[in-house]
Amino acid sequence: MASTFGKIVVGTYVEIKRSDGRIHQAMVTSMNEDNESVTVEWIENGDTKGKEIDLESIFALNPDVSPDEEIAPSPETPPPPTPTSVKVSKIAKNRRTIAPPKNDTPSKDNRAIPIRARPLQPQQPEPAPPPPVQQPTQFQTQQQQQNARRKSNCVKEVEKLQEKRERRRLQQQELREKRAQEVDTTVPNYEILYMIRDFRASLDYRPLTTADVIEEHRICVCVRKRPLNKKELTMKDLDVITIPSKDVVMVHEPKQKVDLTRYLENQTFRFDYAFDDSSSNEMVYRFTARPLVETIFERGMATCFAYGQTGSGKTHTMGGDFSGKNQDCSKGIYALAARDVFLMLKKPNYKKLELQVYATFFEIYSGKVFDLLNCKAKLRVLEDGKQQVQVVGLQEKQVKCTEDVLKLIEVGNSCRTSGQTSANAHSSRSHAVFQIILRKKGKMHGKFSLIDLAGNERGADTSSADRQTRLEGAEINKSLLALKECIRALGRNKPHTPFRASKLTQVLRDSFIGENSRTCMIATISPGMTSCENTLNTLRYANRVKELTVDPNQVMEGGRANNHAVNQLDVSDEEWLSISPQRDDLKLLCEQNEEEVSPQLFTFHEAVSQLVEMEEQVLEDHRAVFQESIRWLEDEKVLLEMTEEVDYDVESYATQLEQILDQKIDILTELRDKVKSFRSTLQEEEQASKQINPKRPRAL
Ligand code: ADP
Ligand code: MG
Repeated sequence: MASTFGKIVVGTYVEIKRSDGRIHQAMVTSMNEDNESVTVEWIENGDTKGKEIDLESIFALNPDVSPDEEIAPSPETPPPPTPTSVKVSKIAKNRRTIAPPKNDTPSKDNRAIPIRARPLQPQQPEPAPPPPVQQPTQFQTQQQQQNARRKSNCVKEVEKLQEKRERRRLQQQELREKRAQEVDTTVPNYEILYMIRDFRASLDYRPLTTADVIEEHRICVCVRKRPLNKKELTMKDLDVITIPSKDVVMVHEPKQKVDLTRYLENQTFRFDYAFDDSSSNEMVYRFTARPLVETIFERGMATCFAYGQTGSGKTHTMGGDFSGKNQDCSKGIYALAARDVFLMLKKPNYKKLELQVYATFFEIYSGKVFDLLNCKAKLRVLEDGKQQVQVVGLQEKQVKCTEDVLKLIEVGNSCRTSGQTSANAHSSRSHAVFQIILRKKGKMHGKFSLIDLAGNERGADTSSADRQTRLEGAEINKSLLALKECIRALGRNKPHTPFRASKLTQVLRDSFIGENSRTCMIATISPGMTSCENTLNTLRYANRVKELTVDPNQVMEGGRANNHAVNQLDVSDEEWLSISPQRDDLKLLCEQNEEEVSPQLFTFHEAVSQLVEMEEQVLEDHRAVFQESIRWLEDEKVLLEMTEEVDYDVESYATQLEQILDQKIDILTELRDKVKSFRSTLQEEEQASKQINPKRPRAL
């Protein structure tokens, strides 16, 4: 056998040639006498790979291990006459394992070889070599006998390799013991960390690159993972998210068996695109919002949402970096989209349209709209009989270049967070809407709405003890559910959708409808184990948004909730408007989301809707009464002045005063009754909130 295999033994490093022409080192792991071949293994991209190669090919590339070749005494040894001779001789010179280093410590070069055999465990620095005593193997004994004259370099090398292997084994043993200790003491999730590492080592990574095709989607749903932040690193949180390819997201959820052993539950999700923590905003933009810029030039409507838990990177993605001192909104999707709008405007096709560009920036907080370009003025949302929604008084500022837009974003953002102790405290409870509007001679040509949504975990605040928090939570819960339904409906060209169930969807209604409208959702996720539950909720929600558009037939076969919703569609438009539209849409919405909305939660939502409606009415009436009071004062003043006259008409005075007082009493009584029932609705809301199962709803 020794003569057939020349100087090859298990553990010898040889050069191998790959099918793509690459030549690199690999370790012989078995020698196959039957077919005169060897099996070699090497590590590539974290994977152990192997191959069987016939001896002839091995010897052609590795003349110094062939049976009739002495170990090259010097680099001047002439190369064998093979077609790859030039390459071979070069590589042979550089080979480290067969030609042994002069001293006993492993050479630096040896460790620098990029492809190494079997470093499956996390890499460890090579320690000083211990002197283990090795029993020679049978094979070695044969070798030694055959070369009794002298101990060949090759045998020495084998011994060294075995020593090394033994050392590695001991190191690994130590490492395992150390790990076992650390599991109990310093890092509680060390075990999980290693399970995740091992899992990742088995994956073949093919992340999204700029060379990937940008696909045309009417609805595009993608996920972006941010890196672990300082706080998470300090508390030794683990990264439990893996994005192995351009459209796959994996969550490694730590679980515990009954016997307390821990294991990973790996859940895989697929989206249109998945961006890992090394993706820049520019990269995310390229595949998500950029394709939508053209839509608005083609007379369409486009929407792009950032959805996720607070702190997962929504604002970073949409607005750019607003945190800390070095604020830079030029790298956010708002600014990148604006930049491309101005670039497109210069294209001959669009230039001739003579379009003007406008921008709006507003915030929806607890179902109310505030203008961020006008000192947070509270705006009213009105809907006419044709379902045309108007945000009354919303400032639309004309912009001529990207810099103009950047200034507006800065103004709006400082307005958004002014007076807030933390930017996230407020933004977690409000949706921010930035719109780029194209107009042709004043008429709307296209609109791009970019929305930084409220933190989805806030949707679970409906059971809070504090009313304000509860109402905010209810509105967020409702708006995110409604948003999901509206996007689904867009994909299915469904005629009726619960737009009116929330202010967010009501205001954005015109951006969803129309043949030529497109939307994109960027679900942002935090990588930490501490965020695992919220992350899974985010991924499930995002998945539902798109899932239905993938297979429309499946959707139509939907369960009871969907069937019921279809029945509702039989009601004509007029009827929809004649009964309270908000509440009807709410009903539809809850029926469509039976799994997330318990009957108690629905009752609560109803109470909240009623409360919000009544609050608006009371405020409106109060304002009217206030105006009227001014008029009354003036009338009464005139009346009193009249009595100063010597011969004033007492009869007329009394009649007029009585009239004024009657009117006052009527109006004030009406207002008082409204306030009374408003107060009892407040109590109802409080009662309803106590009935909600605290486990529901999940963060949306
Ligand atoms: P959200 O708006 O979802 O609440 P932010 O966008 O404010 O979250 O992000 C929270 C923090 O994480 C910020 O300090 C932000 O700068 C940082 N961050 C978010 N995404 C990334 C990212 N992809 N790369 C680097 N830092 C990020
Ligand atoms: Mg934010």
